[in-house]
Amino acid sequence: MSYLFIANWKMRMHFNDAITYFKKNETELLALSTKHSLVVCPSFVALSPLIELAQNTHIHIGAQDCSPFKDGSHTGEVSAISLHEIGCDYCIVGHTERRIQFNETDESVAEKVIRLLENNIRPILCIGETETDTILTNTYAILERQLRSIFVALHAHKKQNEHFIIAYEPAWAIGTGVVPTHEYLTSIFAWLQSVVTKNLAYNSFQLIYGGSVDEKNCAQLKRIPFLQGFLIGGASANFAQFKAIV
Ligand code: PEP
Repeated sequence: MSYLFIANWKMRMHFNDAITYFKKNETELLALSTKHSLVVCPSFVALSPLIELAQNTHIHIGAQDCSPFKDGSHTGEVSAISLHEIGCDYCIVGHTERRIQFNETDESVAEKVIRLLENNIRPILCIGETETDTILTNTYAILERQLRSIFVALHAHKKQNEHFIIAYEPAWAIGTGVVPTHEYLTSIFAWLQSVVTKNLAYNSFQLIYGGSVDEKNCAQLKRIPFLQGFLIGGASANFAQFKAIV
């Protein structure tokens, strides 16, 4: 099976850092991309130059967010239409940092997914519970709620056959060095596979994991049934580490 490796550079890599990283490691990135699916997600301003540098290669470039609106008076927003026009083919939505720091709701995340699919951009939908969520309710109820709004929107727009990626990222594992146990992830991924298969077309989605993935824990994580790739934050900013993971 070909695993998907998505690098989320967040706001860690500024414009110059992103270009330098790519140019410096281009040959090795190219070599890795012939055997594995690689998606690199820089900040908005670095998208165009990286898309140009990655042209005619197997390296995909993705955005870290997009507007829930099609167009109009929304100062500071970046539309899915613009992302499509510059040749962006993936986009992260619903990252826990956006849900927590920018008060994003399940409904606005669902709108973003639809805007992306309308523009032939593959969404990388992030879902996951916070520690408080788990204490107050339970993890499955949170995941169910986050997915429900996506299923409703996909069905309303007749887009349930479109391909997209679901990244399970518990907030308490992001950037903390804490990774859920094998048993925990095995139950989550089995549950996700069953719930998503009931609601979306077979083979239309790929389930991946994110949260403190590094070169030491990824081999063990690959043993989780139904897990088909990784969303990598901190470790992807260091090329040697990213390469070791891939
Ligand atoms: C992320 O931000 O999506 C992420 C998984 O970060 P980290 O790998 O640093 O935990």
